[in-house]
Amino acid sequence: MTTFKNLGLDPELLSALEKLGFEKPTPVQEKAIPALLESDNDLVALAQTGTGKTAAFGLPLLQKLEFSGFTEALVLAPTRELCMQITRDLETFAAFKPELKIVAVYGGASIRDQISLLKRGAQVVVATPGRLIDLLERKAVHLDQLRVLVLDEADEMLNMGFQEDIDTILSKSPADRQSCLFSATMPPEVRRIAQRYMRNPAEISLAANTTNENIEHHYYVVKEKNRYEAVKRILDVEPDVYGILFAQTRSLCQDLAEKLIHDGYNADSLHGDLSQAQRDKVMGRFRKKTLNVLVATDVAARGIDVSDITHVINYSLPNELEVYTHRSGRTARAGKKGIAISIIASRDISKIQRLEKMTRSKFTQMQVPAGDDVVRAKFAHFVDELAAEEPDQASIHAYLSIFYAKMKTITREELIEKLASLELRKFIEYYEGAGDINEGADRRSRDYGSEGSGHYQKFFLSVGELDGLDKKNILRWLNDCGLGKVEFGKIRIHRTHTFLEAETDSTELVMNTISKEKINDRKVRIEIQGMESDGSPRKKKNSYGGGGGDYGKQGKSHFKKDKKKSFRR
Ligand code: ADP
Ligand code: MG
Repeated sequence: MTTFKNLGLDPELLSALEKLGFEKPTPVQEKAIPALLESDNDLVALAQTGTGKTAAFGLPLLQKLEFSGFTEALVLAPTRELCMQITRDLETFAAFKPELKIVAVYGGASIRDQISLLKRGAQVVVATPGRLIDLLERKAVHLDQLRVLVLDEADEMLNMGFQEDIDTILSKSPADRQSCLFSATMPPEVRRIAQRYMRNPAEISLAANTTNENIEHHYYVVKEKNRYEAVKRILDVEPDVYGILFAQTRSLCQDLAEKLIHDGYNADSLHGDLSQAQRDKVMGRFRKKTLNVLVATDVAARGIDVSDITHVINYSLPNELEVYTHRSGRTARAGKKGIAISIIASRDISKIQRLEKMTRSKFTQMQVPAGDDVVRAKFAHFVDELAAEEPDQASIHAYLSIFYAKMKTITREELIEKLASLELRKFIEYYEGAGDINEGADRRSRDYGSEGSGHYQKFFLSVGELDGLDKKNILRWLNDCGLGKVEFGKIRIHRTHTFLEAETDSTELVMNTISKEKINDRKVRIEIQGMESDGSPRKKKNSYGGGGGDYGKQGKSHFKKDKKKSFRR
């Protein structure tokens, strides 16, 4: 086992760590501490929030101080809170180095007070970039003797627009300093900083930050006012959701949970306005899975370590995109699969690209299910449950006579109709005329695309797993439809719909053919995925075939013709 002592830390720091109760180094500490102690080489370290990065740079930084009387170390951090937190942490680590002086400087506080503190001398300055520039201009800080410079949460600093300030600060500090960059992610801007200002940096990247292949990332583009409706429909087609719905604020959390409960969902909220006892109770129910949907704020959900979570739903994207990784990391734990869903407005589409880079994963744009898709999914689930039900003869026998007496004359078909109606009526009524709430947003070809070569056209089909389609039979079905000669690219079959790529030259043929098809008596709707050059969605113009509510209409029924081809399970 690696200990802090093995890493080469001095006795004063070790005593402080012991007092703090840090027993062994975290992975990023294990790597960064010796690297920084043993050489003056630059270092880039990528590790998620909460992995102990402060001590990873803080301990070596403190050990390397020479108490020369100048400012020897500078830590840049994005926010005032972080500056204060880092300062507190460093002071704790330096509990047995009484001669150390650390000064935190940040905006929103008196610059005079900060100047007078700086005047008394500080070996370590912890600063936000903007305030530091201010102080440099007033010559209240001097960086010419700087030996160690740390950029903490570099990605966040760049997100917040500190690029120029950082450039200025870096160009004003001595060329032979040691620079360390700590970040949760490595977007191109961070890499640019590393390339421009760091000399051949060693790189540490922790496994926690690598792609979790088991998470599927989906997003739905809707209008602001349709967010809630989108969440409901998504929950409705996924009957076995065990998930967390993340909301930005406590009050939104509360509102959403109340609405969901009112609408019959098994949901509850977890946020900071609740008492500890209330929070424990909610968490207890969630852990026992008597609660399906936990509506939570980021802060409240921090540290939640529940396995088996199937879905993480972002009611909106977090303000700080880095948070997305923490949210989605709640699912797909311990080798299990999970889906991270984001409900976004069209103005947020550019953020998806950033998220793709950050998570090194592909994000798939999904279509919010249409009303009839939801009803169908509900019904399929109901039928599955009905089929799986194993009645306990002994216990229900006594009551069955009432049933038989009332239902004496009823036929099997009538009974089934009644059952279906009873179960589905409220959904059918609710979803009657429920429109398409998908925002006709930028359906970038790369969403479903094969290299965006233009070779393939992507299509949306209103049939999916629930209709019996699967990877094996879909090509056979396409062949049976008369599309045997068409070259198909990627095919993704979802519960209620399918995305299909077919060679662009065959677009018309595919549209015309499939729009005449029926599966299990239901007309297949096919739409082209893509944009017109003016940026408007192409959907309407190119939508062929039956939309919702086409049940039982006349038409060519593929599956009626030949029983063998039926996908009905
Ligand atoms: P990061 O900067 O990576 O987000 P922090 O440095 O803020 O993480 O550390 C997160 C938490 O973990 C802090 O509460 C810190 O005190 C604690 N911590 C850090 N290193 C250790 C360790 N080796 N053992 C126990 N706790 C630690
Ligand atoms: Mg940190």
